[in-house]
Amino acid sequence: MKETNFLHRMYQNICKDTGEQNESAKLIVVVRLLILTMIIYSLINSGLCLFASHTGGLVFCQISAVLFLAIFVLSYHGRTFVSFCTLNAYILVWIIFNIYMFGWNIGVQHFIIVLLIACFFAKYKHAAIKISYALALCILRIFLFFYCQDNAPQITLSARLNNAFQIVNTIAIFFAISLIAYIFSTDTQTLEYKLVEYNEQLKKQASIDPLTGLYNRRRTLEYLEKLFKAPEHQISICLCDIDLFKRVNDTYGHDVGDIVLKKIAETFRKELPSGTFISRWGGEEFLLIFPISNGDEANVFLGTLRQKIKEIVFDGGSETFSVSLTFGLVEHDFHSDLTTILKQADEKLYYGKEHGRDQIVF
Ligand code: GH3
Ligand code: MG
Ligand code: MG
Repeated sequence: MKETNFLHRMYQNICKDTGEQNESAKLIVVVRLLILTMIIYSLINSGLCLFASHTGGLVFCQISAVLFLAIFVLSYHGRTFVSFCTLNAYILVWIIFNIYMFGWNIGVQHFIIVLLIACFFAKYKHAAIKISYALALCILRIFLFFYCQDNAPQITLSARLNNAFQIVNTIAIFFAISLIAYIFSTDTQTLEYKLVEYNEQLKKQASIDPLTGLYNRRRTLEYLEKLFKAPEHQISICLCDIDLFKRVNDTYGHDVGDIVLKKIAETFRKELPSGTFISRWGGEEFLLIFPISNGDEANVFLGTLRQKIKEIVFDGGSETFSVSLTFGLVEHDFHSDLTTILKQADEKLYYGKEHGRDQIVF
């Protein structure tokens, strides 16, 4: 429990902003974590030198650790930009000094890549400066390589200590690069995820009727156009309308009317076969599309549906009531176009309304 508290406090301290509003809070976190990595790195190398009884190396690593610690303290005072530049400058000097002291083989030159990546991820807009810096780093690396060809290191490490330094360097560099990439990429990933989710939501909103959750007219027309382009099966279409719905609203209120619409939509979903495309065509009118049923089959489904809807008992406050629907059913003849079929369904519905309602006209 104590350890968790300590880690939590440490995490909060690392994330502490510099108070400079125009600067990225992420950069200071990266700077501090990089410094901590370098401190741990210097301490491990100190341990290795101590183990190998190498005083020169030990002093060098200890001084490095103290200077990194000083930059860490600095990161809590002043601007992020200053801390970032100081850390960059110090790591550069440190790389040069390391190579001068221990030579090329310990692999410390790869820290240049860490600086390069940090520089491009940092959200400062000066592209020209970044590119110049990258070029300078590249030149520096080439220069150091040729310098080491002609000059022996000041301190010669034993083969084992050299290998140990090489391994610690590799781990520290991989860790530092992963850290920078991880911290700076989380924003982009979160943003991308949010965008995909938002797009899905928009797509849904654009095709679903919010009251009933059924497809809206726009989406239905889209579906029908696609279906009518290359019909593979018998298609049946039914336009249906709640009977005397205005009276429901007038008698029991608009809210009760909404409940009726929702309950009818729910009954459609429950009673009709799974492939049926159910939509709210407008107001209290619904369009049901049976993409693989002929008229007779659809007629059977509608018969059951009509009965189920009539059996629903609605609460009108002082009394209960029920509603009925009139259906206009058409079977696609593979010749007529979509407009004609929809018109036929509408005419049949109208015929049903004119001839007593509460019926299926086929
Ligand atoms: P008919 O049997 O001839 O279809 O009669 P009707 O009363 O159902 O037809 P009318 O076209 O006269 O009235 C339809 C009513 O549907 C009027 C309108 O207020 C109501 N309505 C349309 N959309 C909604 C809605 O989203 N919620 C509620 N509560 N009522 C709606
Ligand atoms: Mg009606
Ligand atoms: Mg109507």
